[in-house]
Amino acid sequence: AKGDGRNNFSFFSSDMNKDMLERITLEQSLRRAVLQQEFCLHYQPIIDNQTEQIIAVEALVRWLDPKKGLIPPDQFIPIAEETGLIEPIGEWVLQQALSDLKGWHEKGYLINMAINVSSRQLVHSHANEFACLLNGLLQKFDIAPQSLHIEITESMLMADTEQALNALNAIRALGVEIYLDDFGTGYSSLSYLKRFPISVIKIDKSFVDNMLEDKADANLIKAIIMMGQSLDMKLVAEGVENMAQQEFLQGLGCDYVQGYLISRPLAEVDIIELLADAAKT
Ligand code: C2E
Ligand code: CA
Ligand code: CA
Ligand code: CA
Repeated sequence: AKGDGRNNFSFFSSDMNKDMLERITLEQSLRRAVLQQEFCLHYQPIIDNQTEQIIAVEALVRWLDPKKGLIPPDQFIPIAEETGLIEPIGEWVLQQALSDLKGWHEKGYLINMAINVSSRQLVHSHANEFACLLNGLLQKFDIAPQSLHIEITESMLMADTEQALNALNAIRALGVEIYLDDFGTGYSSLSYLKRFPISVIKIDKSFVDNMLEDKADANLIKAIIMMGQSLDMKLVAEGVENMAQQEFLQGLGCDYVQGYLISRPLAEVDIIELLADAAKT
């Protein structure tokens, strides 16, 4: 038994070294990726649930590693947040998304752009630092602030309440709308909803997944929609994958839907094709 213990211990510790090594390697390649700008954006449409028109697209970042290919955000955003690399990455995302949006507006596709933002990008010593960055980019690309939506998560509101509130108020003051992402998965109290300048609530996919089978999830969705409506907010349901889900949400008066049923996130060339097709009908 003693021998087993030792073996387990050495196995465990070499595993830990391996994890640490992987993490250091990942961090190093992520630094290179920032310098080389090895990122690309995919865009997923958000549609009006009544008219089925595309009202906005959400920009979703991917890392295009020369050796490993396309790496999804869940595999590098957490490390980017820890190391602070999220700041240059996030700035690249804003630049690229607004530059693409400008191109679409010039083609006559008058849609909006939703961009995910981490708390680390938002909270600085000066409350309006991020708002200034946004304002500069909106002017550079000559885009109306109403066309830009910033997606934040509940945990961000929790993290640094006063600073987050000030930063969000500065963004809202520009005319940019704020979406509360992954709603229902965090621990935020409902009083945050009233205090923070939030225009739109995105109902997390985990509720949509089971709402047709699970009465409790269906009731939760109903309650979230009613709550949003009474606070004068719009609602988006995320992760809608089939018609039955879309119809159920239509019945509940959910304003917008997003998910694989409508479209997966698409590369820029493909989203242009989708917008062109939508413009024909
Ligand atoms: P999110 O903001 O909640 O984005 C929605 C995620 O769900 C996306 O994953 C999208 O591809 C996926 N999705 C959408 N519809 C469906 C569906 O019908 N079924 C299923 N199974 N999945 C669906 P993705 O692109 O891998 O992004 C993951 C997360 O990474 C995002 O979650 C967001 O939190 C983060 N992220 C992405 N881009 C950025 C960024 O530019 N900045 C920051 N800070 N975070 C980002
Ligand atoms: Ca999002
Ligand atoms: Ca989400
Ligand atoms: Ca999510």
